[in-house]
Amino acid sequence: MMNKPPKPPAAAIGQVSLVGAGPGDPDLLTLKAVKAIAAATVILVDDLVNEAVLAHASPSARIVYVGKRGGCASTPQAFIEKLMVSEAHKGENVVRLKGGDPLVFGRSGEEIEALQQAGIQVHVVNGITAALGALASLNTALTHRDHAHGVLMVTGHAKPGDPGTDWRALAHTARQAKLTLVVYMGVAAAQRIQDELLHRLAADTPVAIVQDATLPSQRQALCTLDCLHQTLTEERMASPCVLLIGDVLRGLASLGHTQEAVFARGHIRAM
Ligand code: SAH
Repeated sequence: MMNKPPKPPAAAIGQVSLVGAGPGDPDLLTLKAVKAIAAATVILVDDLVNEAVLAHASPSARIVYVGKRGGCASTPQAFIEKLMVSEAHKGENVVRLKGGDPLVFGRSGEEIEALQQAGIQVHVVNGITAALGALASLNTALTHRDHAHGVLMVTGHAKPGDPGTDWRALAHTARQAKLTLVVYMGVAAAQRIQDELLHRLAADTPVAIVQDATLPSQRQALCTLDCLHQTLTEERMASPCVLLIGDVLRGLASLGHTQEAVFARGHIRAM
């Protein structure tokens, strides 16, 4: 009788966790993120991740930077996805560290699809998204019920070939439905965003611009919508910034004169 051939060893299948590193302050990591970072054997670090969070990594973990560093072009998305798949197939415990929350403008949708198609287990670990970090630093609620019924998170940077956000429609909806607008990646297109929003939103709609939210280098400016671009330019504010637009910011107007860090431009009426 012939012996059965031995079973091939089970393929080494690792896993990938998409982990939110928060907006900047390393103390804003969740406990779950800390545990995932500590357990990782390979860590792919995105742009805008504060490297201080790597203090939780194992000394033996392999750390790969995949964001734009030192003016270099960022690693192409397809390459990152391939790398995650190949490392997981080798049995590695891969952590993909992203700024803020991985599910907010983090390209996680594409990555989850690619990983699932490759049969790899994916976990998502939330982080605090930049806008919420920024709002906490301003002691302002995104949905103060006297001023807003909800919030819209929008990108100012569309993917190539996509006509991008319809700012006029958005402004109309925000006004009709009393929504706060939160714009990510809005610095480069600020002038256009301002001009388009002004078709439907009042010129004195308050705007807070927060750069480097939650980091020691944080700066913020308060202005009216008609002064958005001017304020960014004059105050030399640069990416990464979140733009917070709507009446929930009106309460901050009174701080414009008293809090050194918040400088007001335009005529914002405190409510
Ligand atoms: N997933 C991230 C967003 C990635 S898109 C999150 O949830 O926060 C990148 C954009 O996020 C930046 O262009 C900027 O608009 C915003 N951003 C990220 N970190 C920031 C910070 N510390 N301060 C202000 N804006 C920030």
